[in-house]
Amino acid sequence: MIAARLAAQLGLSALNRREVLRHAGNPPPAVAAMVDAETFRRSTDYTLAKNRFGVVSLIFEALVLALVLGSGILPWLFAHMAAWAPAAKWDDALFILAAAMLAGVPSLPFEWWETFRLEAKFGFNQTTPGLWVADRVKGAVLAVLIGFPLLWALLALVGWVGAAWWLWGFGLLFGFQLLMMVLYPRLILPLFNKLTPLPEGALRERLFALANRTGFQASTIEVMDGSKRSGHANAFFTGFGRFRRIVLLDTLINQLTEEETEAVLAHEVGHYRRGHVPKMLATSAALQFAGFYAVAWLAGSGWFNPGFGFPAGELAPAFLLFGFTSGLVTFWFGPLGNRVSRKHEFEADAFAREAMGGPGALVSALRKLAGKSLSNLTPHPLFSAVYYSHPALVERERALTAVAAAGGGGGKSE
Ligand SMILES: [Zn+2]
Repeated sequence: MIAARLAAQLGLSALNRREVLRHAGNPPPAVAAMVDAETFRRSTDYTLAKNRFGVVSLIFEALVLALVLGSGILPWLFAHMAAWAPAAKWDDALFILAAAMLAGVPSLPFEWWETFRLEAKFGFNQTTPGLWVADRVKGAVLAVLIGFPLLWALLALVGWVGAAWWLWGFGLLFGFQLLMMVLYPRLILPLFNKLTPLPEGALRERLFALANRTGFQASTIEVMDGSKRSGHANAFFTGFGRFRRIVLLDTLINQLTEEETEAVLAHEVGHYRRGHVPKMLATSAALQFAGFYAVAWLAGSGWFNPGFGFPAGELAPAFLLFGFTSGLVTFWFGPLGNRVSRKHEFEADAFAREAMGGPGALVSALRKLAGKSLSNLTPHPLFSAVYYSHPALVERERALTAVAAAGGGGGKSE
């Protein structure tokens, strides 16, 4: 299964590389209209550099996964740690955390190279080595502080409620996820970034006017200092109900005009108004439900744990192995998830066009953002189907302008 996924990933990379090279120096007319020749050339270079880096790291990650699963190091670690407190479950929780964190160590040099070589070479990286290390230390501490009690509770559930533990486990994790949607922007995000309310002024008035016009009750709009790590721009909103918060990256505000920023926010409001948040939550709940059922079934089976050198019936190894191997199955469903996500993007774009009284501002915002991020404007269709959660810029523009023309917008689009 590792080999099958790697073969598919490398095949897609090769297809995409060839597609990008085919258009290098000779962009399709629709793309040539979006960015200038120099930006297009740089985006080709950036895409090819990321592609080369991706091939090496995909092969490396597959080897690491095969080694972690096949070397016997996990059962060895489990046998030692399970002896610490045979009756309690905290040592099992610690085992999962330790194994998951150790398995992440080999890819650290790759993350370093990506940030300080690849991203830096194209002028995106703003992170300092000190900040990079601090981010990882904070992440590890948080994983222990939050992950340990949660895992412990999940593993102890069997002792409390018996065979139905997985149902309760699902409830516990999903409830925790809802709680984190509210707490994350308040407690965790500020550990990594500075969030400040958007200062008084024309932009703030414009954005609040949009929020009122579109029926989006926003208590605050915040600016996050994304520029201290990367030049890539973004906007998002977190939480739900009255805990909803809109966050704009400072890079976004710096790169766009006020009208374009408003159009991007209108797109985000579109996600909310078209009900994408509850839809995504319901999907994620269904997947987690299936995941818990799968872990319970695999742990109880006579082949899953023993196949990897663990005793049958043990829950902690089943959880860990599920974590390591589920991606080998879910990878093949990526196109399905992305199709839904792309449909949502089109809906949010359509909402923004309506809220802005035309597609112009959003189109120019998307063009600017794609140009500044050196996005690949000519991806292979199969590659984008598997990996892209957002439609390619050409498709978004076509959808934005096509319906506007059909809706009697004045025939301004060619
Ligand atoms: Zn979107």
